Amino acid sequence: MKTIIEERREIPVAGETDVLVVGGGLAGVAAAAAAARNGVQVTLLEKTIALGGLATLGHVCVYLPIDDGLGHRVYGGLAEELMQVCRRYSYNDIPECWKGSPWQVERPTGRYQCTFNIPACVMALDEFMDREGVRVMFDTGVCLPIMEGSRCRGVIVENKSGRSAYLAKMVVDASGDADVLFRAGAECETQKSIVSTWTYELDVDRIKNETSSSEVLANIRMRWFGLRPDVDNAESGVPTFYGTTADGVNDYVHFSRSLALKYLKEHDRPGYAFLTMPTLPQFRMTRRLKGLAELQVAEGRREEHSVGIVIPSLANPAPVFEFPYEAVIDRRIENVAAAGRMVSAGGEGWEIMRCIPNCVFTGQVSGTAAALAIRDGVSLQEVNVAALQRNLEETGVILHVPEEMKRNSEKQPWEYERPLGLASLATDSLSYDGKSKYAH
Ligand SMILES: Cc1cc2nc3c(=O)[nH]c(=O)nc-3n(C[C@H](O)[C@H](O)[C@H](O)COP(=O)(O)OP(=O)(O)OC[C@H]3O[C@@H](n4cnc5c(N)ncnc54)[C@H](O)[C@@H]3O)c2cc1C
Repeated sequence: MKTIIEERREIPVAGETDVLVVGGGLAGVAAAAAAARNGVQVTLLEKTIALGGLATLGHVCVYLPIDDGLGHRVYGGLAEELMQVCRRYSYNDIPECWKGSPWQVERPTGRYQCTFNIPACVMALDEFMDREGVRVMFDTGVCLPIMEGSRCRGVIVENKSGRSAYLAKMVVDASGDADVLFRAGAECETQKSIVSTWTYELDVDRIKNETSSSEVLANIRMRWFGLRPDVDNAESGVPTFYGTTADGVNDYVHFSRSLALKYLKEHDRPGYAFLTMPTLPQFRMTRRLKGLAELQVAEGRREEHSVGIVIPSLANPAPVFEFPYEAVIDRRIENVAAAGRMVSAGGEGWEIMRCIPNCVFTGQVSGTAAALAIRDGVSLQEVNVAALQRNLEETGVILHVPEEMKRNSEKQPWEYERPLGLASLATDSLSYDGKSKYAH
């Protein structure tokens, strides 16, 4: 590839803080709140102009379950709290039995999950960050970490003011793609993604006979173009794309949008319109850290350094695993922690950790660890894990799998009317060529 030399130049330091969070998806929001609650100054840098990442700008407005399907609440802490924030100004489809946040429900009537309205969620997240005292800088893309050996002094950003630097004692990489850790030299794994694009549609024929406002809302549907992740797509002929290269992102965007346009052309009629389109490409898994440890998808395995228990949210009943602290840190880089869909978990573990509750959970872990490291004047590798565990436990995080959450053959999941509970939004999905239609 042809290259040129970028000119050396002096750039302004636009800000200095204790903890710098890169990326304002739900993981970044959780990391920022957790660090701020532990008494340090926090700045969050986000390249778009809204918080929420895939959950808002990528239209993934389904906060998957935080219970095990057998009547036990698995998550406390920010993973539960942010669910409430996301839905604060919109629908309230959390099943009655989970309202009030019990640890155990005798006869659950549904999973502990919710859907949320995207603009209302964006604004609730703004309010949340303000309340936590986090400085949020929008429209600020992080280009490069500033490294001194194994220590990151901060990052170089590009925004409307041009290039500048933000300096920090600790950095949380919540970019979804491990942009900071990768460019700092951390070992990472990349993966290709299948295509999907979700858009809301208004179909006047569908709503004209509805009389109540909730029925009208329920009929404003999400339409899904692309491939389903839960079936074998090997024979589909539809390309897959890397989300970690300029060409990969561009090809993905062009291709996925062309599917939506094809559908629109075929269904163009009075009374039918697309209402929105995603403004972040909907990559599921792109690049993740290969950290000091990895999540082991092994029921019954005890992790001494567990910082919380996690589930594959879609499973019913869901097996419960212990997540080790070392899965958010690199072997060498002393002060950059990972949060969200890019933490250290391979194969099936990556699928598990990319779901929203787990992204928020690891955000809380990394933000808290960063704050404790600053307090104790140590690197992330030297954090006092017992102190971190106590801190997380005090917020409601469960560290080790309790006896009652261990699955056995006598425990049967409750049958729910709507196991996935997409109460406020129905989802249709289409194959890439628009021929076959499935129910989600
Ligand atoms: C099609 C699809 C369907 C899904 N369905 C569900 C579901 O139903 N329920 C569920 O729980 N999960 C679902 N997921 C997974 C889930 O939505 C995401 O994995 C999760 O929201 C990721 O959160 P995050 O904060 O880790 O990353 P992201 O949401 O990707 O956030 C990363 C943020 O960092 C910003 N950023 C990136 N690079 C930079 C940079 N260099 N400088 C500054 N900012 C940067 C981005 O703009 C973004 O705001 C789905 C995902 C996809 C793609």
